[in-house]
Amino acid sequence: MSDFEGLKALVTGGASGIGRATADLLAERGAQVAVLDLDPSSVDKPLLALAADVGDDVSVRTAVAEAAETLGGLDVLVNNAGIGAQGTVEDNDDAEWRRVFEVNVLGMVRAARAALPHLRRSRHAAIVNTCSIAATAGLPRRALYSATKGAVYSLTLAMAADHVREGIRVNCVNPGTVDTPWVGRLLDAAPDPAAERAALEARQPTGRLVSAAEVAGAIAYLAGPLSGATTGTALAVDGGMQGLRLRPA
Ligand code: NAD
Repeated sequence: MSDFEGLKALVTGGASGIGRATADLLAERGAQVAVLDLDPSSVDKPLLALAADVGDDVSVRTAVAEAAETLGGLDVLVNNAGIGAQGTVEDNDDAEWRRVFEVNVLGMVRAARAALPHLRRSRHAAIVNTCSIAATAGLPRRALYSATKGAVYSLTLAMAADHVREGIRVNCVNPGTVDTPWVGRLLDAAPDPAAERAALEARQPTGRLVSAAEVAGAIAYLAGPLSGATTGTALAVDGGMQGLRLRPA
């Protein structure tokens, strides 16, 4: 498939997990792709590696400008960089709330703000935000993380409304539990990682975790020409976690 031929994409948090799978898929499908990441040392050609921190406005503006200059414009922004946080509202103090909002929410705002002038010049402009089922699911011990993803969800809808007349589509994906280095780190921290993984898989309606490639496929759909009439939506990629109401067997 070469439906992204001639398109230029920037993927934040693109060095690992969902972002890396997305950057690789878009490149395979013909896009020129820049990867913005805190640590892009694993990123090599044909991807353009840019070291930047979405928690810092100057850093983001510099990287987005470099991506647009080197690639010759921007058509697609995949706002994917994000960090986790565990606990109830009593477990995280104000500084921790600010730190996670800085990355998960303001990081997406900053990248969008820097990318929009370039996207306006594109005939196929799209922004895809990596949200989460946490935005709407009411997950226990994820108050801060869920609040950031709730904000990402609302931001997606508001931006879709603001930019629809400019021909810029804005959508998000809501992944469930995805088998990425992030989840690997959480499992490794458990007393028995293999048992923890098995329990996690057993909680999935499909009996397995979502793969990063499956989320990348959904992001590519929302970023590409085949979804030209789709804006202001959230696409669940969660193995049925939210939509299905399975009774215990
Ligand atoms: P990951 O940890 O494997 O990759 C995240 C990447 O983002 C890393 O390369 C990291 O260096 C980069 N990053 C982190 N902070 C950054 C910053 N301040 N500036 C620039 N880059 C930064 O994680 P993943 O599982 O692929 O998660 C990616 C996105 O998917 C996140 O937004 C996360 O909230 C979301 N998500 C993940 C899951 C899951 O189960 N893995 C589920 C739902 C949503």
